[in-house]
Amino acid sequence: MKKIKTCIKILKDLVSFNVLGGQSNLEIIDYIVEILMAHGIEYHLVPNTDMTKTSLLCRIGPAVDGGIILSGHTDVVPVSGQEWNTKPFKLTKIDDYLYGRGSCDMKGFLACCLASVELFKTANLKKPVYFAFSYDEEIGCLAGTELAASIGKKYKEKPIFAIIGEPSMMNPVVGQKGICVLKTTVNGSAGHSSMIRSEVSAVHVSAKLISWLEKRMDNYAQGNILDIRFDPPYSSVHVGMIHGGIAPNVIADNCSFFWDVRVIPGHDVNSVIMEFDEYCRIVEQEIRTKFPGFCIITIEDHPPVPPLGTKDNSPVIPLIRKISGNYNLHTVAYAAEAGQFSNEGFETIICGPGDIAQAHRANEFITIDQLEKCLQMFEKLTEEFV
Ligand SMILES: [Zn+2]
Repeated sequence: MKKIKTCIKILKDLVSFNVLGGQSNLEIIDYIVEILMAHGIEYHLVPNTDMTKTSLLCRIGPAVDGGIILSGHTDVVPVSGQEWNTKPFKLTKIDDYLYGRGSCDMKGFLACCLASVELFKTANLKKPVYFAFSYDEEIGCLAGTELAASIGKKYKEKPIFAIIGEPSMMNPVVGQKGICVLKTTVNGSAGHSSMIRSEVSAVHVSAKLISWLEKRMDNYAQGNILDIRFDPPYSSVHVGMIHGGIAPNVIADNCSFFWDVRVIPGHDVNSVIMEFDEYCRIVEQEIRTKFPGFCIITIEDHPPVPPLGTKDNSPVIPLIRKISGNYNLHTVAYAAEAGQFSNEGFETIICGPGDIAQAHRANEFITIDQLEKCLQMFEKLTEEFV
């Protein structure tokens, strides 16, 4: 069967597994394992602690240094509340378009990998190709760090490169901001609003903290940690949700707000959190003279996802330009597992089929043309590795 036909058949099967972020992905992994076993490829599982989800690793080719990792996630985002014209978990072909949840983000890439197993297997590769497929990417890249670290544990040899196949229209992406989502809770003292001078309003204190965060972002904009590849070229801070108080005439004894920090490469997200925490301790000290039980608590609502900042002189850049056929380097605003692989020491790039604009929305699609381009990239990669 022609490779593109195999690829579409596999994509159809992959889309039929409605594995949302947070849910068990064991069935879709079983399906992938069947394909690998049919080709005699050994694999490793990297499960979560209660064995309900697992990442998968395999190597095709010799156990020598210098290989390349092809990585993608097996989970997708929900479809609830979206108006689809087709059944989201049934891949539907209309002209050159293949509609279905995950067709673009990012089962299209996984299908290209799996449709190329035969090619990789029979090509007599001098350097190996690895697959690293994760779970729970869509709810905060929860498995990427462990998956990237497990490559060094499962294999004695060390791959150099990693391609994360997030949708980029096959353009090489060298940069992605890191993200950390936080929750800050302020405990004040309740009372009649006329008593505001003798009680502590958690809402008022939260407003003060939020305005401090916004000023901090202004400092980043004027500071020297800038990366002009991004828009905006500095780390940003945003408060997206706030809950507090019960009535206009009641002093709020509790207020919480959720915020995120998106850091450029080279800016440590922990330094942002530490600065904020130091300020919170100062505010606490001031207020405790009036109200001893006063406290501000900030916790990470999700583990941080590190940024990707692949350097101009990285050896992955000439390789990806050659095999993708696309020269210009890009940055993206979305979070992905790329920084997690980069932190493990792999020269990492994002490059995959489909347009991120189609991801996460109703009538998500990928074009057959994009799948063909990705299959061609793997053919060129094979030529580089024999
Ligand atoms: Zn994705």
